[in-house]
Amino acid sequence: MRITVVGGGYVGLVSAACFADTGHFVTIVDTDPVKVDMINSKKPPIYEKGLLDILKRTVGKNLSASTEYESVTDSDISLICVGTPPGEDGSANLEYIRAAASSIGTIIGKTTGRYHVVAVKSTVPPGTTENIVKPYVLKSSKKTDDDIGFVMNPEFLREGLAVYDFMNPDRIVIGSKSRKAADIAEKLYSGIKGEILHTETTAAEMIKYTSNAFLATKISFSNEIGNICKILGIDVYDVMKGVGMDHRISPFFLNAGAGFGGSCFPKDVSALVSLAKSKGINPVLLNSVLDVNENQPLKMVEILEKRTGPLKNKKIAVLGLAFKDNTDDIRDSRSIPVICALLKKGAQVSAYDPMATNTMRKVYPDVEYCSSSSDALCDADGCLIMTEWPEFSELNDEFNLMKSKVIIEGRRILSINEREGICW
Ligand code: NAD
Repeated sequence: MRITVVGGGYVGLVSAACFADTGHFVTIVDTDPVKVDMINSKKPPIYEKGLLDILKRTVGKNLSASTEYESVTDSDISLICVGTPPGEDGSANLEYIRAAASSIGTIIGKTTGRYHVVAVKSTVPPGTTENIVKPYVLKSSKKTDDDIGFVMNPEFLREGLAVYDFMNPDRIVIGSKSRKAADIAEKLYSGIKGEILHTETTAAEMIKYTSNAFLATKISFSNEIGNICKILGIDVYDVMKGVGMDHRISPFFLNAGAGFGGSCFPKDVSALVSLAKSKGINPVLLNSVLDVNENQPLKMVEILEKRTGPLKNKKIAVLGLAFKDNTDDIRDSRSIPVICALLKKGAQVSAYDPMATNTMRKVYPDVEYCSSSSDALCDADGCLIMTEWPEFSELNDEFNLMKSKVIIEGRRILSINEREGICW
């Protein structure tokens, strides 16, 4: 099949690369010329395991990138993978979705006689595909839904494991009012094993929000239990191991820690809260999920301060800046509010992350960025572990470089005795 993927970020680039690797002809359209040049030079603009190898195999053969939408004219399907960041009130900002839909429509308007499917892969509030994407595409193309089909095909990949997840999905959700459009979307996945679920368009949109809200709830729930366990002197990891052995609960997403970050959970739960409120519903549970998540990282600083005394002029090593391991993504990383609180208290922050220092430098230019854990720990009065990078689990003698060995873990990863956990 011929595919145009609009938006070459985490979801767009990984989807495009994986579809190309299964034999489709794929063009990525992105408004960012730097990203486009990098992709065409086989250099992934983001780090994802396996992505570089796929680009090496496919770019120049059946994968390319462009800033122009021309490839839509001879594509069977266009996938919208642009960002849906949070607006000021927490609702999903759909400006990029509208822009992408208009641009796709304008190009389709120049073609004759070819049926085209527009599929939304971005996470969007229920109703967006039918009530925003469809009218924008139809208006700018001056065509009808006999000529263009609309599909909502949410993406569930996890950053850090994006290529693996894309190629091994738990399910592939295809929501559409049109069976013809849904069948074309299904063909995209002919090279990927995964159970296909056909739904209404709005149900597909809601499945994505509900999945993320449920996972975020599991994390905030575990963190709340962890906070209680810490006061009671009980190891929350023992507790959750026992709890997760219940097949109705499952062992996943029960790791207590400094809270969830990333580009999806915080914004998607906020968008769901905002959507519920706009319909007159007070989403009590979801609000609590967000509240726990806001407070959790600040507990790291509270515990640290109790151990070190006032933080003014103290050197604090922050190990881990990415929102999780194996990615350079710092969006809504829990290290952001932690660094903010440390700086406000007058601490000198020395930070290290195996991949994310350059991205964090844009947020906090004045922090000292180090090229190793040892450098960050040297002469530090305290250390906060913020990301579960596997290399941190090996740290041991490096902590002897600290002025005083106050080590607070926000992710349970160290094996040394001197650590104190955020909720253990
Ligand atoms: P991203 O910010 O990494 O990428 C978006 C890309 O779209 C950028 O490269 C940007 O330049 C490009 N873009 C913006 N407007 C454009 C336009 N009009 N035409 C062409 N390109 C345009 O975003 P992402 O993390 O890939 O997320 C995309 C969507 O997928 C969001 O709705 C997100 O919630 C959802 N999602 C993300 C993940 C994830 O792990 N990142 C997982 C599942 C779903």
